[in-house]
Amino acid sequence: MKSAVYTKAGQVGLASIERPQIIEADDAIIRIVRTCVCGSDLWSYRNPEIEEGHRNSGHEAIGIVEEVGENVTTVKSGDFVIVPFTHGCGECDACRAGYDGTCDRHIGNNWSDGVQAEYIRFHYANWALIKIPGQPSDYTEGMLKSLLTLADVMPTGYHAARVANVQKGDKVVVIGDGAVGQCAVIAAKMRGASQIILMSRHEDRQKMALESGATAVVAERGQEGIAKVREILGGGADAALECVGTEAAIDQALGVLHNGGRLGFVGVPHYNNRALGSTFAQNISVAGGSASVTTYDKQFLLKAVLDGDINPGRVFTSSYKLEDIDQAYKDMDERKTIKSMIVMD
Ligand SMILES: [Zn+2]
Ligand SMILES: [Zn+2]
Repeated sequence: MKSAVYTKAGQVGLASIERPQIIEADDAIIRIVRTCVCGSDLWSYRNPEIEEGHRNSGHEAIGIVEEVGENVTTVKSGDFVIVPFTHGCGECDACRAGYDGTCDRHIGNNWSDGVQAEYIRFHYANWALIKIPGQPSDYTEGMLKSLLTLADVMPTGYHAARVANVQKGDKVVVIGDGAVGQCAVIAAKMRGASQIILMSRHEDRQKMALESGATAVVAERGQEGIAKVREILGGGADAALECVGTEAAIDQALGVLHNGGRLGFVGVPHYNNRALGSTFAQNISVAGGSASVTTYDKQFLLKAVLDGDINPGRVFTSSYKLEDIDQAYKDMDERKTIKSMIVMD
């Protein structure tokens, strides 16, 4: 079968690899219907030390269950499913508390990879997979795009709002105008925020966020950006949702909050020098991590998409065939598209 592999920094190609097999009793083999490139994949893509033939870090998909292990009873061959980037067991303390993105049964993270391929092996399939009613042919392309966001970016945007405890009437600032930031705007609106400011310098992304519920956009960065936010809100924000993963983005988030405000961070951190003590003087609550994809999808996000209440699929502004995966990465890296979707045959 065909699978995307990193060939060198800034280049992705296709390799022929063995089709995956069931290994554990809780595995499923999934035939991929739609997959995509994540902002986090671009870190590997740009890495000058990437080895030729390195497995792709793709981790978001919707697909058809081909085969299941003997312990899998919740889905069967032929079912259409959301393939989350996480593999919660559904039974441990973390999963039961609604933090399946950091399931206690996994050492380190529990993320998928290698999903930019024709087939994948998915472990902890019995609880983590989310069944979608019907078959892909029952849905419009727009709806398939929204269903695909439920594998990562929509639950991740929602997670930022949940861990920052966004409440009805809150003033919220979203840092990051990529797919996750756009979904965080949708999530803040779902939770009843009264004002939502997106920090963005790109007109197309500003427009998309304003259509999804943002009430203002701020293009300025640093101290200037903080001052602008405070001017619009008449003070600091109740919650800041950080969807980038850089130290500058964390600084921006901390800077826009009023004392006692809440920071939710979901950008995969590419820094490790942020001292917790720096938030003491402001009484800032800080929480963040990997999203609870299965919990949110099962509880309300799948329903919100199917009912047409939210339309996160708009973040996919370009579609490609698997053969054109290199272009899909390139266009996203050069910000020609917000998020690249891969349509499988
Ligand atoms: Zn992702
Ligand atoms: Zn668990």
